[in-house]
Amino acid sequence: MLCRICKSKGERKKAVVYIRHHRLALCKEHFLEWFERQVQRTVKKFKMFNKNEKVLVAVSGGKDSLSLWYVLNKLGYETYGFHVSLGIKGWEYSKKSLEVCKKFSERINRPLIVFDLKKEFGYSIEEIAKGVGRKDVCSVCGTFKRYLMNRVAIKEGFKVVATGHNLDDESALLLSNTMRWEVGYLGRQYPVLPEFGGFARKVKPFCFLTEKEIVSYAILNEIKYMETGCPNAKEATSAVYKRALAMLEHEMPGTKLRFYKEFLERARPIFERELKENLELNECEVCGMPTTAPVCSVCRTLERLKGRC
Ligand code: SF4
Ligand code: ZN
Ligand code: ZN
Repeated sequence: MLCRICKSKGERKKAVVYIRHHRLALCKEHFLEWFERQVQRTVKKFKMFNKNEKVLVAVSGGKDSLSLWYVLNKLGYETYGFHVSLGIKGWEYSKKSLEVCKKFSERINRPLIVFDLKKEFGYSIEEIAKGVGRKDVCSVCGTFKRYLMNRVAIKEGFKVVATGHNLDDESALLLSNTMRWEVGYLGRQYPVLPEFGGFARKVKPFCFLTEKEIVSYAILNEIKYMETGCPNAKEATSAVYKRALAMLEHEMPGTKLRFYKEFLERARPIFERELKENLELNECEVCGMPTTAPVCSVCRTLERLKGRC
């Protein structure tokens, strides 16, 4: 198969990537161009950040977050990496992830900020989940990661935090929220969440790009990422929604993108209206971070844990 763009110019370069839902075959050069243009367009369309703002990029060591850091840096944004060392599966997995992030930060010559959970709080994420009797490590982990992103952003003076959530993540989240009619979550699901009550702005520049497109970008740029995902991911319920959507996508290419885009344009404004009237934030009595309760959920979890030890 020949690259569509090369072909239109009368050249005969072979395509290395085929994007099924756009029916687009591209050579390496034109795929990289296309990918970077998509990211730039999303950043601009949703006014995520500009070249005068420092961007804190949350990096796990996986393909999405490292590709995001790479592309934003390439597009000329002032980026800093942020990694939480969580202590997954006896630290083995976490040590490797940290190493991968450090090497990558050296490669692109940008600083990496590291938060070590054990050093700061005294426990790994699995010890925390187990200690408070939670089987679902991922939901505890998600709460801690969101909290730490905010905390580090405030402390280090960042107004923007970027994460590598892709179209597969966003459409699976949308399906899961819709199946349970989580009105509040549906109102908040958007590629950019503005700064609010002390929280940094949250942005998802990869929200319209699929996991496959990101893997291709990472491979073509020789990005060394953690090839095995977090061992706890298999147990996450989001994996079930991803499988269901993958099946629909296989039968009807473009389903995920349509589902998510149409939601943003047509349904989400309705849920958002309800949200604005309900949210009130105050400072956590323990750590001072913004929260809807007197004590934030991370401080509550840590207090429960200490009470049990
Ligand atoms: Fe945390 Fe679960 Fe993600 Fe692993 S898969 S990093 S435990 S949220
Ligand atoms: Zn080409
Ligand atoms: Zn707190």
